[in-house]
Amino acid sequence: MSPLSPEQVTRIAQEHGSQPTCSACSPYASPGWESFPGTETDEALQPLGALWLPGDEEPTLEEVRSPGVDAWSPLAPISLAHHPANRCEVWACRACGKPFLRYTEYGGYYEDRRIRELDPRRLSSQP
Ligand SMILES: [Zn+2]
Repeated sequence: MSPLSPEQVTRIAQEHGSQPTCSACSPYASPGWESFPGTETDEALQPLGALWLPGDEEPTLEEVRSPGVDAWSPLAPISLAHHPANRCEVWACRACGKPFLRYTEYGGYYEDRRIRELDPRRLSSQP
């Protein structure tokens, strides 16, 4: 996994993020954070890089919230400098290039894998 800067991720979002899912990536369609579909492998996707790599300094847990909007809501802004986007990997559909953010939440006894479309309209411009 190679490192991606917020600027690079913004560019990926602007280039391919607005297009609809194709038949290959439609199982992952998720305007808000969804648990990764357990019935699907991720073979249709390829990793582009990550906003944070293990070993780097721990990124902030601060979040950017709109009042009344849950962090996992489709309406939640994507702020690349804040949690959870700052710990995300960026993957793209092998067929059409549509980009997705992937986030893994590690609990004591579970691992929650989530995925969200990298939609440029949700990107927050806050640094
Ligand atoms: Zn696709």
